Amino acid sequence: MYIRELENVIDKLDIIMNSYDIIRIVDPMKKLVINIKGNKAKYSDLHCFEIWGRNSECENCISMRAYVNKETYIKLEYLLNDIFMITAMPYELIDRTVVIEMIKKVTHTLSFRMEGQGGGPAQYYETVDNIYNIALKDSLTGIYNRRYINEKLPIDMMTAAISGHSIAIMMVDIDYFKDVNDTHGHLAGDCTLLNLANIIQTGLRRESDWVARYGGEEFLICMPGAGLQIANEMAETLRRKVQETTMDCSGAMINITVSVGVSAKMPDPNSSMDDFIKEADIKLYEAKRKGRNRVEA
Ligand code: GH3
Ligand code: MG
Ligand code: MG
Repeated sequence: MYIRELENVIDKLDIIMNSYDIIRIVDPMKKLVINIKGNKAKYSDLHCFEIWGRNSECENCISMRAYVNKETYIKLEYLLNDIFMITAMPYELIDRTVVIEMIKKVTHTLSFRMEGQGGGPAQYYETVDNIYNIALKDSLTGIYNRRYINEKLPIDMMTAAISGHSIAIMMVDIDYFKDVNDTHGHLAGDCTLLNLANIIQTGLRRESDWVARYGGEEFLICMPGAGLQIANEMAETLRRKVQETTMDCSGAMINITVSVGVSAKMPDPNSSMDDFIKEADIKLYEAKRKGRNRVEA
């Protein structure tokens, strides 16, 4: 049935078919991949990320983004010695949305304007990495930035809603951080932020957990699959670890504490990221109000 419904789509893809090396239809709701070859659609046994040699979802999955935001996204990926351009376009069927992924090998046709000599694939790989890092990473701490939160959190929430799992977030804020700057200077303050980012990053449970710098001295941790109890325990472990760590910032020995607000939920497809963050924020302010250096869940 489903395949037949897609024949319509395939007909419409006819004109662009020759411009791409691979065209496939991804149904994030049903976790299906359907390969289009000639005018035929065929179910694939592989997860969508497996063609990239990965065993878990891509960090910058644009198909889920296309699905959630109903917009077309484009990204570059590399595999072995080749660079691929992937376009993910949402497509409305009668009762659901699927994503059409169009993949083209661009190793020798991609044009970058780059400084220096050489060029070639090796330099392209570096450029792709750089673009990704500049766009989504915080330059001071090296962890993800606010933009990453805006892109990834709605996707993780949607993935949790689809699979019926819970998802937890924590808002972490340094206590009396202004005093650290006033006492030791801004450079030492920066060093403290970097140290804290490292402590959080090394404490993450699994590959799907991530941390981003939400703002000045505030960090957001996302734990897909975690419920309130696990998130609460994680937060408490982090709080204790920070309290027990003395940071050496160019000779200044600095001790800080953090307050943490935790929120967990079983999202539905309409759950809002802003509301979710607000819930964690309210808990964070409760932790501050109750004296700081504590976790509220
Ligand atoms: P509270 O316990 O209520 O959170 O007190 P606080 O002093 O941490 O909070 P407040 O919001 O008053 O101050 C936050 C400070 O964080 C002020 C700002 O100078 C500092 N800050 C924000 N971003 C950076 C940064 O990138 N580097 C440094 N060194 N300081 C920063
Ligand atoms: Mg703050
Ligand atoms: Mg603070």
